[in-house]
Amino acid sequence: MSEVRNVVIIGSGPAGYTAAIYTARANLEPLLFQGLQPGGQLTITTDVENFPGYPEGVMGPEMMQEFQTQAERFGTEIRFEQITEVDFSSRPFTLKTDFDTFQAHSVIISTGASARLLGLEAETALMGRGVSACATCDGAFFPDKDILVVGGGDSAMEEANYLTRFGRKVTIVHRREEFRASKIMVDRCKANEKIDWLLNKSVVDILPGDDGKVRAALLEDTQSGEQMEVECDGIFIAIGHTPNSEIFEDKLEKDENGYIVVHDGTYTSVDGVFACGDVMDHIYRQAVTAAGTGCMAAIDAERWLEAQEA
Ligand code: NAP
Repeated sequence: MSEVRNVVIIGSGPAGYTAAIYTARANLEPLLFQGLQPGGQLTITTDVENFPGYPEGVMGPEMMQEFQTQAERFGTEIRFEQITEVDFSSRPFTLKTDFDTFQAHSVIISTGASARLLGLEAETALMGRGVSACATCDGAFFPDKDILVVGGGDSAMEEANYLTRFGRKVTIVHRREEFRASKIMVDRCKANEKIDWLLNKSVVDILPGDDGKVRAALLEDTQSGEQMEVECDGIFIAIGHTPNSEIFEDKLEKDENGYIVVHDGTYTSVDGVFACGDVMDHIYRQAVTAAGTGCMAAIDAERWLEAQEA
């Protein structure tokens, strides 16, 4: 076991890297675990147009590389490993990866959230064979094809718009008539000639063709119950996210949806453990708000550590 670190940061999205920049500049020599998806959700997105300071927009992966470079510039130690177990019952806290055990006086959790799926058997079986949860990753595999996008939030609108770069036709399938998405995103899709709509429909099954790839989706009208088969080559699931908080089960207070509960800024139910970004924020979930709460967690941790020494 190595020495006790001042701060260990779990997660490498905008929240984690911002917490790293601030704690590193405060000479706390943070150790950051990137986890399985270094850079977080922004690495599977395209243009980020709403992060201040980028008037022309920036590609998500490029922005996250810049966050990492900035965190490293001030001395953050970064490890490409995943924390699989934590013990917050006594201090210093203990954190384990598959290979090693670490100790920390304070911990900042910024593990983010992951794409939600419909929960259909066929969805898992056909993942990578026409089913995807990431347009940026897989859109190019569908040139001139018919694509369905499931969902009615900003993610669905963004993915649908992006997929029109590749597909012949993109159909948004949503279980209601009203959208959770912002008006500007819906309007952008409505103005896109390649986008069609199937509203009040839910996906009840995904049907494979003889080649073992997606052939059609079986939809059910949410009002009449009537079922219809819609031929398509690709189905992109864009129905929101689940917080990555499983390893904190019974260790920290969480809400009914699994988001870590914070108070007075970023304090969790355990003194010395702080949470920031999408793992504690089910309302805003933006890169800029995640970065903002990352900054708050760093300042909270710094002040808390100072108070322990006093
Ligand atoms: P969201 O806003 O929670 O929307 C999820 C959508 O999926 C809803 O329309 C929901 O339908 C539908 N849905 C959920 N579970 C479903 C199921 N089992 N079957 C069928 N449909 C289901 O999630 P999001 O679109 O990922 O957006 C999350 C946050 O990120 C939002 O704050 C959004 O503004 C932000 N975001 C912003 C941008 C941008 O500005 N560029 C891009 C992406 C995301 P109901 O409405 O019927 O519940």
